[in-house]
Amino acid sequence: MGFRLVNVGGRAALVHDQSYVDLETLSAGTFGSDPMAALGRAEELSALAATLADHAPTGLLADAVLDAPVPRPRNCFAIGLNYQSHADESGMEVPAVPLTFTKFPSCIVGPNAAVELRSDAVDYEGELVVVIGTAGRDIAVTDAWKHVAGLTIGQDISDRPAQFAAAPPHFDLGKSFDTFGPMGPVLVSVDSFDNPDDLRITTLINGEVRQDDSTAMMIFNVPTLVSYLSRFTTLQPGDVIFTGTPDGIGMATGRFLADGDVITTTIEGIGTMTNACVRVSDYVKEAN
Ligand code: ZN
Repeated sequence: MGFRLVNVGGRAALVHDQSYVDLETLSAGTFGSDPMAALGRAEELSALAATLADHAPTGLLADAVLDAPVPRPRNCFAIGLNYQSHADESGMEVPAVPLTFTKFPSCIVGPNAAVELRSDAVDYEGELVVVIGTAGRDIAVTDAWKHVAGLTIGQDISDRPAQFAAAPPHFDLGKSFDTFGPMGPVLVSVDSFDNPDDLRITTLINGEVRQDDSTAMMIFNVPTLVSYLSRFTTLQPGDVIFTGTPDGIGMATGRFLADGDVITTTIEGIGTMTNACVRVSDYVKEAN
């Protein structure tokens, strides 16, 4: 059966067709309002989702202002060079193990938030985002999906000058400016997908297709990433993993994001996230 979880103005809600029902109301107070507190209770969410038809909708999704379904992740991991096509366009060797960095959790914003550009070489990277639901350490690959609460869409927005201002690169800084982690619009439970390892993922800029691939083309798939990270740190509910981007990014073509551009990111079975870009002041003055 599964569930679709949204964050409406800071309150968790479950999606039913074109509407949503507030989770605290739906559960008669068994759940509170905080989406973060719901992420470790996937089985209860599925049971509640099965009762949605018996409850009056709280509102229409079309009228709702959605925040990130995981608004305050404890840890926000991200994987680089995880699609062969993207490694090729970057002229980089495919890593032997998942190339891991972190995005500061403070960069996470909602699925319709504006992305602030602070240079003229800011890039888009459409990515599947894994949300941990059940804590675990040294998780076996074969058990990994059981530790996932669900999947959502993310953009790993990247300021290339900031990223490559040092060697080795500042992956974390360059990808963690405020607003550089749009996420949403909905967290979809793993059992809602026919095959969660094979989902079409596209990124459009102003309606033009720039990225179009399948998550089946990942070099290290979701279970492998979950297992790998859990060897270093005990994963906890609400930890998120940005799983890497396919080819078609601006750095490969020289076509970076500009003021007024609209990023449209779609993943099969999840939905579509739309973010407008706004050019703000430079983060650094030219040195010379
Ligand atoms: Zn990325």
